[in-house]
Amino acid sequence: MAFVSVLFPLAVDQTFTYYIEGFDGNDIGKRVLAPFGKNNRQKIGIAIGTASEIDNYKEAAILDKSPVLNKTLIDLLEFLHSYYGSGIGMAVKGMLPKRLFEIKEQICIEEHDFCYHKQSENLLSTEEQYYIINSIKDDIAKRFSSNLIMGVTGSGKTEIYLQLIEHAVEAGYGAIVLVPEITLTPQLEERFVSRFGDIISVFHSRLTPLQKFNRWLNVRTGRAPIVLGARSAIFVPAKTGIIVVDEEQDSSYKQSDMMPHYNGRDIAILRAKMEKIPVVLGSATPSVSTYYNAKTGKFRFFKIEKRVKETPLPKIYLADLNNCRTGIISEKLLAALEQKSQSLILVNRRGFAKNAVCLDCDSLIECPNCSVTLCYHKKDGQLKCHWCGYKQKIDTGCRKCGSSNLKFIGTGTEKVEAYIKEVLPNKVIERFDSDNTKKKGSYQKILNRLRDGEIDIIIGTQMLAKGHDYPGIMLSAILSYESLLAGADYLSSENAIQLALQVSGRAGRMSQGKSIIQTYNIHNPDFIDIIRHDYVSFCEKELVIRKKHLYPPFSHLIRMISVNPKQIEGKRDMQYIASWLSDRNIEFLGPSECLISKIRNKFRFHLIIKTNNVKSSVCFLRNLVENKKFDSRIIIDVDAIDFF
Ligand code: ADP
Ligand code: ZN
Ligand code: ZN
Repeated sequence: MAFVSVLFPLAVDQTFTYYIEGFDGNDIGKRVLAPFGKNNRQKIGIAIGTASEIDNYKEAAILDKSPVLNKTLIDLLEFLHSYYGSGIGMAVKGMLPKRLFEIKEQICIEEHDFCYHKQSENLLSTEEQYYIINSIKDDIAKRFSSNLIMGVTGSGKTEIYLQLIEHAVEAGYGAIVLVPEITLTPQLEERFVSRFGDIISVFHSRLTPLQKFNRWLNVRTGRAPIVLGARSAIFVPAKTGIIVVDEEQDSSYKQSDMMPHYNGRDIAILRAKMEKIPVVLGSATPSVSTYYNAKTGKFRFFKIEKRVKETPLPKIYLADLNNCRTGIISEKLLAALEQKSQSLILVNRRGFAKNAVCLDCDSLIECPNCSVTLCYHKKDGQLKCHWCGYKQKIDTGCRKCGSSNLKFIGTGTEKVEAYIKEVLPNKVIERFDSDNTKKKGSYQKILNRLRDGEIDIIIGTQMLAKGHDYPGIMLSAILSYESLLAGADYLSSENAIQLALQVSGRAGRMSQGKSIIQTYNIHNPDFIDIIRHDYVSFCEKELVIRKKHLYPPFSHLIRMISVNPKQIEGKRDMQYIASWLSDRNIEFLGPSECLISKIRNKFRFHLIIKTNNVKSSVCFLRNLVENKKFDSRIIIDVDAIDFF
């Protein structure tokens, strides 16, 4: 039993067999040092199981005394492969900190008991909180259950998470808490730290590789077993008693831009099932699919109807943009902005203007590398591509005819900022978007000033809608509801209504606030639900449509994309896949050019398969891609939510 399957963090979908003297079952999941490739360079891999004997074998050696992957994580690797179609090498690369594949010496992984000293007292639960905590707490570290807590912001969900985790900690277990973007929610982090002190490990995208490794090690050894982080934190080797996914509908749980493509929320449910522990999903506006699972009894469904402090939800008003002279701020919104002490405005685009048009040759100025128009950033005097980062000085002029006679249309955060500064000169106005918060600590600075009442009006992108609790804000507004519907896919109404309710919920945490949604289509039936804060009614209507067209939750969508610097080849490959599927009577939509048909000089075509059996579909799609040797790179995106 000395032949071993070793996995390397490479873009290959296979394991390699080595001979390891004295290998046994306890060595599974450990790092190994193995000669790799023609030159037999020493490379670090992970032993994931035994293999059958081969001739001409090479020998490898175990590096550490303890494994870096446990059974759950090895099973999850297999799932990333069989369900999401990820190459198994890329899956392990995405799962472990990079440093583990760089340090060629033994890493000391000594398991510790953690010490938990209660930092602060729990709040006395409300009746609703008490009921929910009691219903879930007996499952902790014992049995699987999936639970949805649907409750508006301020209804006390976080307090429920904290108390459930405390039960886990007292039983000697840790927990994983997923949040969409931890850098945007420092208050949440503060709350966890003030409750649990230094047994918290926070993971976010701004950590250096060394920080990431050290925190991973603190979790692995059990010193800091409560993990708070973005989607990839679901793969940390914590000894978990419970898993929490806050804002479970958030699209950032889906990794769409790189391999492996997975949804952290769905992995959380699977992991809870594997580890026989409860998973708690929380949201004011759960995804329609999760709502369906809760409604049909697949998940336990808890609803919290009111806020802890009983502040009524904000009143939501619509403002018609059709008769609005400036097309930016309606009179209704302007009047409200003049009055209220602190306001927030959501603008769905950064920069100054969406498009630049050349008045001499009548063309939109496009990115030379992508099939999108360049956005005008007035502050930098540049036109920029938000997809590839291309920029050109504004005085370069039109790319086609060289004219500098340009007109800017469409509205971004910068333009709204400039406009409001002009019409409301006495207000202190700040912008909050990724352009304005690049510098370290700048997020926090702006949010602190907001909290301290130094800002009257804050204008920002979606970043602003996520998780901030600033009691001073009494008015929130959405510049244009239609701009939230931009995706034009089956999820666009769902995403727009979620964002609208999220933004409106930012107003009036202390006393009733007000929210204004500007729109060009005041008759959109979804507004009836929005104004009543009746998200369930929206879900019910949406489920009827989804069922009719067999969209999720009534099917799974697998998106196939071809990416190729040569347009003809990309198109041909996607057409080949389409006819291959037709021959096998498999239903799909397309093929067609992607909405953004070229990114970074690569052409993109796609088609979308609806299936009820993801694993078998993925299996034959992978076989097709591997055997056919397409000229294009073919991406398989399972449970796709991004259709650009
Ligand atoms: P959510 O996560 O649903 O937004 P939180 O747990 O953050 O709700 O609760 C909202 C506010 O109410 C917070 O300021 C919190 O400290 C407070 N709170 C929550 N539960 C209680 C309670 N049982 N008693 C008093 N205050 C509470
Ligand atoms: Zn570009
Ligand atoms: Zn021109």
